[in-house]
Amino acid sequence: MNDSQRSQEKQKGTSRRQVVKGLGTLTAAGLLPGRLAAQGGNEADILIIGGGIAGASTAFHLAEQGRQVLLLERGEIASEASGQNMGGLGGFGWGNKPNLLSYLTAGGVEIFKRMQIDLGFDMEFRLSGTLTAIHTEAQYEYYQDQVTDLRAGGYDAELLSPREARAIEPDANGELPGYVYAPHRGQADPVKSTRAFAQAATQAGATIRTGQNVVAIEALAGGGYSVRSESAQYRCQSLVLATGAWCGPVGAMLGLKIPIVPVRGQMWATPSVSARVFHTIGSAESSFAWNQDNGADDQTPPNLTHKNGRRVVRHLYGRQRRNGEIIFGGDRESLGYNTTPDPAGIEVNRGHAADVIPSVASIPIARTWAGLMPFSLDGAPIIGRIPLRSDLFIVSGLSSSGFGRGPMAGKLAADLIHSGEMTHVLAEADPARCVTDL
Ligand SMILES: Cc1cc2nc3c(=O)[nH]c(=O)nc-3n(C[C@H](O)[C@H](O)[C@H](O)COP(=O)(O)OP(=O)(O)OC[C@H]3O[C@@H](n4cnc5c(N)ncnc54)[C@H](O)[C@@H]3O)c2cc1C
Repeated sequence: MNDSQRSQEKQKGTSRRQVVKGLGTLTAAGLLPGRLAAQGGNEADILIIGGGIAGASTAFHLAEQGRQVLLLERGEIASEASGQNMGGLGGFGWGNKPNLLSYLTAGGVEIFKRMQIDLGFDMEFRLSGTLTAIHTEAQYEYYQDQVTDLRAGGYDAELLSPREARAIEPDANGELPGYVYAPHRGQADPVKSTRAFAQAATQAGATIRTGQNVVAIEALAGGGYSVRSESAQYRCQSLVLATGAWCGPVGAMLGLKIPIVPVRGQMWATPSVSARVFHTIGSAESSFAWNQDNGADDQTPPNLTHKNGRRVVRHLYGRQRRNGEIIFGGDRESLGYNTTPDPAGIEVNRGHAADVIPSVASIPIARTWAGLMPFSLDGAPIIGRIPLRSDLFIVSGLSSSGFGRGPMAGKLAADLIHSGEMTHVLAEADPARCVTDL
C-alpha cells in the first residue's frame, strides 16, 4: 500500500466512524417525555413486545439513552427465531455510499464487536469471513460481475480459485469452479447474543418480563396504549412491535394488517467433532436462481426454496460452533406456523453441504430443528413509525438475515423513537409503504 492509498484508507476509516457516531448524534439528549410519567411495575414510557434480537436490541439502545423501557416476551428471551438460527452475520462492508443494507450489515458487525469486545459479553462472536461456493460456469460468470460491481461500490468481496479457498478452508471442495470470499462476514452464538442484548438492556435500566403472552392491545382515548397479557395489564405511551413472524396476529390486535408471514427455516447439527470448518459456508446456487426469478407474488415473499409445495432451488448456510457441532440449514418454506422439520429437506441440504465440504458426508446428523423467519411480502425490512396509529413503532421484517441485522435494526428504531427523527437510511424500511388498516 503506498502513501496515497494509506491516506485514502484512513479517510474511509474516518468517514465510517462518523457514520456510526452520526447515528448517536441523532439521539438528542433530554428528550424524556412529559406526556406519561410512567413509573411502577406495569407502566412504562415505551413498551416493547417481543424478546428476540430485534426487541432486545431496541430495548438496550433505548435504555442506554435513558428511556424508560418495559419489554414483554411470551416465552423466554431468544425462544424463537433469534435463538434458533445459524448465527451468520455481516455483509460486504460499508461501501462508498452506505445505504440501509450497509448499516444493517456493517453497522451490525460494529455492534457485535462492541458487545463482545468492549462490553465483555461472550457471544462467541468472531469475524470468520464467509466462503460461498460456486457450482457451475454460469454461476461463476454471474458472480464475476457481482464481485466487480461490489468492489466498484467500495464493498469488499473476492473471487477465489478452489486452491486459494482450500488454503484458508482446507476441507472445501477443490473440484468446484470457485468461491466468493466475504471478509466482513462473521458468526456468533444466537442464544448467547440475544440474551446479551437483553442483559445489557436490564443493566441499562430496562425491565424485562418473560412468560407474558400479549393477547389484547387497546389504544387509549387520551393517548398511549393498554396492553393485556394472559396474566397482567400494562400501560405505556409508546408501543413497539418486535414480534417477528407473529407481527401479523399482533398487528391485528390493533386493527392493522402487517404484511409479514412466517417462513420455516430448518437446520441440522453433527455431533461435536474436532475443528475443521473455519468460515461460515454458503452456496451461490440460490442467489443465482433468485436473481432470475425470485418467486414472489401477492401472497408469497421473494427468495423461498419452495413454492406451492415444490422445491424450486437449494439454499445453503452453515458453520462449526465453538462446541464442535457442524450446523447447516437452507430451506425456506411458507407453511404457516409449522415448526416441524422435514427430513426430506434436511437430506437435500446435507447433500448440498457435502457438495461444498465433502468431509461432512461421513458425519452423522445428531439433531434437527426449525424456526420461523419474519418475511415481509416485499422482502424489505419494516422498521419505523406506523403512521396509522399514534406512538406506534415496528422493528421487524428482517426475513432470513435478522440475527445479523437485528442489532442495528434495533439501534435505528431506538434512535428514531428517542429523537422523533427518521434517518434517511430508514426511508426504504418505512412501514407507511405497506402497513394498512385491516
Ligand atoms: C433456521 C433459521 C436459520 C437462520 N439463520 C440466520 C443466519 O444465519 N443469520 C441471520 O442473520 N438470520 C438468520 N435467520 C433469521 C433470524 O433468525 C431472524 O430474522 C431473526 O431472529 C428475527 O428476530 P426477531 O427478533 O424479529 O424475531 P423473533 O426472534 O422471532 O422474536 C420475536 C419474539 O416475539 C415474541 N412474541 C410473539 N408474539 C408475542 C405475543 N403475543 N406476546 C409476547 N411475545 C410475543 C416471540 O415469542 C419471539 O420471542 C435464521 C432463521 C432460522 C429460523
